[in-house]
Amino acid sequence: MKAIVMHRRGGPEVLRYEDFPTPEPGPGEVLVRVRACGLNHLDVFTRRGEQGRRVKLPHILGVETAGEVAALGQGVTELRLGQRVVSGPGIWCGRCEFCRAGQENMCAERLIVGVDVHGGYAEYIKLPAYTLAPLPESVSFEQGAATLVAFGTAWHMLVDRAALKPGETLLVLAAGSGVGMAAVQVGIHLGARVIATASTDDKLARAHDLGADETINYTRQPRFARAVRKLTDGRGADVVFEHVGADTWKDSVAALAIGGRLVTCGSTTGRWGKTDLWSLFAKQATILGSFSSTRANFHTVLRLVGEGQLQPVIDSVLPLSAAEEAHRRLEARQVFGKIVLRP
Ligand SMILES: [Zn+2]
Repeated sequence: MKAIVMHRRGGPEVLRYEDFPTPEPGPGEVLVRVRACGLNHLDVFTRRGEQGRRVKLPHILGVETAGEVAALGQGVTELRLGQRVVSGPGIWCGRCEFCRAGQENMCAERLIVGVDVHGGYAEYIKLPAYTLAPLPESVSFEQGAATLVAFGTAWHMLVDRAALKPGETLLVLAAGSGVGMAAVQVGIHLGARVIATASTDDKLARAHDLGADETINYTRQPRFARAVRKLTDGRGADVVFEHVGADTWKDSVAALAIGGRLVTCGSTTGRWGKTDLWSLFAKQATILGSFSSTRANFHTVLRLVGEGQLQPVIDSVLPLSAAEEAHRRLEARQVFGKIVLRP
């Protein structure tokens, strides 16, 4: 099969389009013919060797994949050949206390597809059958491959972790990113008032189209906490949706209302952020970490996308062979929503 293969860590140029052995599904596994694979910042960190896990080389990136069942391993009865499927949030053990409680994202033995095992930048991928979900008829392969990470992550952050309530104010940072635009939509869906930040007016206009009530251009207003106070009669945001990290952390904490919750899932600009502890305890604020999503989150967002209540925003669809260019665009932040590769 054709695949984008990494033989070493480094810049986008290490992504090579070449022949690679087609995987064979073992017992309980399924071979999926890849029709679309969504790009994520995790792919960039994995390519550079910066995500903290040892990746065996040669390696194939790609966290989220949509396609058709091409072959069934021994004992797989829940899926049929040709069925449209989408890959779920990783591979988990199914036995530990967290897995049994439906918290698969807390499983210590959890493997990340595209990091710990070969991902979807290829014509075929093999995955355990239990990690796949049927793709609703109304959802395209491209939309399916742009749903899991963005909406699953945003849903877990805002529903399971921050417990966002109707009528609360939600501040979404970097609303032009895949997870940011998902957070804007989940916030609106939950009945919150959404304030979105982004680096350009163009991205803010798109966030506004997605339903954001107010927008802040943080290139013009780097001290965005002040702008948030102005928009909330001095009150601040009940929930701050963080995934930017070092560059925005200080203002994110400052933007919190009394009793506010800051929930974070990423640190694309750096992992160290200074926290004003006085502000934290005086406001009785809460900082929450969030990682990936659960199987239940995944099924919920897939259903809502199928019903048209949530809409994956796709920046562009590129051929698989253009993975290098796609990574350059992602790194340059010249995207609104997801880039999807199509073999
Ligand atoms: Zn487990």
